[in-house]
Amino acid sequence: SHANSEKHKDVNKYLKEFLDEMQTDRIREHLRKLTQLPHLAGTEQNLKYAEQIQKEWLEFGLDSVEMVPYDILLSYPNKSQPNYISVVDHHGSEVFNTSLAEPIPPGYEDVSNIVPPYSAFSAKGQPEGDLVYVNYGRTEDFFQLEREMGINVTGRIVIVRYGKIFRGNKVKNAILAGAKGIIMFSDPADYWAAGVQPYPDGWNLPGRGAQRGNVLNLNGAGDPLTPGYPAKEYTYRLSLEEGVGLPSIPVHPIGFHDAVHLLKNMGGPIPPNNWKGALNVSYRIGPGFIEDLKSHKVRMNIHTNNQVTRVYNVIGKIRGALEPDRYVILGGHRDAWVFGGIDPMSGAAVVHETVRSAGRLLGKGWRPRRTIIFASWDAEEFGLLGSTEWAEDNARLLQERAVAYINADSAIEGMYTLRVDCTPSLHTLVYDLTKQIVSPEEGEEGVSLYESWHKRDKWTNDRDAPRISKLGSGSDFEAYFIRLGIAAGRARYTKNKKTERYSSYPVYHTVYETFEIVEKFYDPSFRRLRAVAQVRGGLIYLLADSELLPLDANEYAHSLRSYAQIIAGVAQRNPDQMELYKVSFDSLFSAVQNFTIAAKGFHERLQTLNREDPLQVRIMNDQLMYLERAFIDPLGLPGRPFYRHVIFAPSRHNKYAGESFPGIYDALFDIENSADPETSWKEVKRQISIAAFTVHAAAVTLTPPA
Ligand code: GLU
Ligand code: CA
Ligand code: ZN
Ligand code: ZN
Repeated sequence: SHANSEKHKDVNKYLKEFLDEMQTDRIREHLRKLTQLPHLAGTEQNLKYAEQIQKEWLEFGLDSVEMVPYDILLSYPNKSQPNYISVVDHHGSEVFNTSLAEPIPPGYEDVSNIVPPYSAFSAKGQPEGDLVYVNYGRTEDFFQLEREMGINVTGRIVIVRYGKIFRGNKVKNAILAGAKGIIMFSDPADYWAAGVQPYPDGWNLPGRGAQRGNVLNLNGAGDPLTPGYPAKEYTYRLSLEEGVGLPSIPVHPIGFHDAVHLLKNMGGPIPPNNWKGALNVSYRIGPGFIEDLKSHKVRMNIHTNNQVTRVYNVIGKIRGALEPDRYVILGGHRDAWVFGGIDPMSGAAVVHETVRSAGRLLGKGWRPRRTIIFASWDAEEFGLLGSTEWAEDNARLLQERAVAYINADSAIEGMYTLRVDCTPSLHTLVYDLTKQIVSPEEGEEGVSLYESWHKRDKWTNDRDAPRISKLGSGSDFEAYFIRLGIAAGRARYTKNKKTERYSSYPVYHTVYETFEIVEKFYDPSFRRLRAVAQVRGGLIYLLADSELLPLDANEYAHSLRSYAQIIAGVAQRNPDQMELYKVSFDSLFSAVQNFTIAAKGFHERLQTLNREDPLQVRIMNDQLMYLERAFIDPLGLPGRPFYRHVIFAPSRHNKYAGESFPGIYDALFDIENSADPETSWKEVKRQISIAAFTVHAAAVTLTPPA
């Protein structure tokens, strides 16, 4: 109708103003201000930044901005007993020690409170033993070590290179294999780009740079001492021994300069070629050193303390004009290992600019249809803790009222193109929006972000569009998406994965993540960060202000079909057993078929919906909002009660990666080597039935209510 198209134009008019208001110079200013000093979670400086953000969000014009504290378990090195690793001779004297800190980058010489590289939540202890090198420490690396090379790490210290998977999974694998300590190093093969200088002359990792990071295995629990409930003053706490996900062995990170000294004299078998990094050493597996140095051992000295500490989320709101009880959330963390130049402040600066632009629109009389919530999370680096506690605190409201969650961690990890990971129902919105944003690349002034992205990263064979990937974890969307079933997405600028083979970006979680590394190398014009602001902000805007929710159930149907095909293909690697135990995917494919039909019917009815009738609009919007919720199984995945999404979970082998139909996938994993195939295949059948039921039940939610 005429009224509808007028209204539609209005939405777009304000969208354009909202996106155009975001300025490169402002983002540069926000980033500079928010990266002056180290602001680790639980420190005074991180509270100061929280207060500054609260004050400025209020000045920008948000309706309310509150500070929300929790008392959670954090972990810090002992200031009077530094962590390091030694090589000791047969008298027990230290003949080599790893460095205690990274060299300070120029301009920051007078800064105090730079936490030295450490593995947060490491166990304390001084284990001594022979080293065993286990490549990246992945499940498949330990399989190869134990099953093919016949090497046992029990009572030994494992050394692995960083990269490929979340470090917490490496630590878990080492513990399960029986190691009494684990050392992680950054190898130039994974953290050095060819032809680039080390920081400050370029963006490569200096030899003495080392990656900090938590080594928990929380499986979505949040604060280790208060699983399931917000960590308030009165909350019951588990003892430190009972805490969720804490490693039982010492863990420590080192740079490649120190790694050379541990690796260079190792003995034992020559490694397979794909275990060799780029250092000038043999990468022998061990255990222990070469014959002449057999009596030399490695000793770890780890004195890191776990400590319950107060942290602060900042929560800002714009009250929705028509549907105040529907929430669209833009959240990202504020805590950083040191300055947080890239991680997370490139993201926080983008959120700051988004809030400023939204405030300007409010000043012109705009108010979104739905409520928008902005969050500056604390303690992400310690296991997604601030965001998970707030999700626990507000679970009742969120499960009834949350429409979508957009994550805003680092806005840039490379200089090549856009990267989007999101739930399938957001695909169409991401494509529509990026067609309305201009490419940030030099010489592409008249080109859309969509075109620029499409040209650089094509979705292979499936369709003619830029690639969008599924969500994994390792950032704050986890509790919202995987525990609560809220549609979620993330967007950032990324590297060219075909040519740049290093993991994350070279200086990740080091002291070299400064404002200058972004300004000099990653985004001198700040146009890439602006484009990311426009994507994240635009998503929030359209989710909050469109009359009909811009969620696409047909895209979910399409993804479900491809995930079903993939998982059936995994099972088919064992055709004889499939037949023997009568394992069939028919129920799952038929549920996917039901879902496809229900989604198609739903979107057809949406076309002819009487938009003049607010109740009719609300009914169908609620079906769209609750679609993601329909994939939640209240019982959770086996052994992982906080991972409740039946379609997506973080991979058991790599928290950063997403696994589709995780229940079935995990039941099938390594089933060839099962000691009890009958029981294992029964579990596969049970998981197929859970997946089929859940997809079917989700389909029913899309059918007419009566
Ligand atoms: N983003 C942080 C990291 O990758 C925390 C991830 C997590 O604990 O899940 O180290
Ligand atoms: Ca908790
Ligand atoms: Zn981050
Ligand atoms: Zn981080």
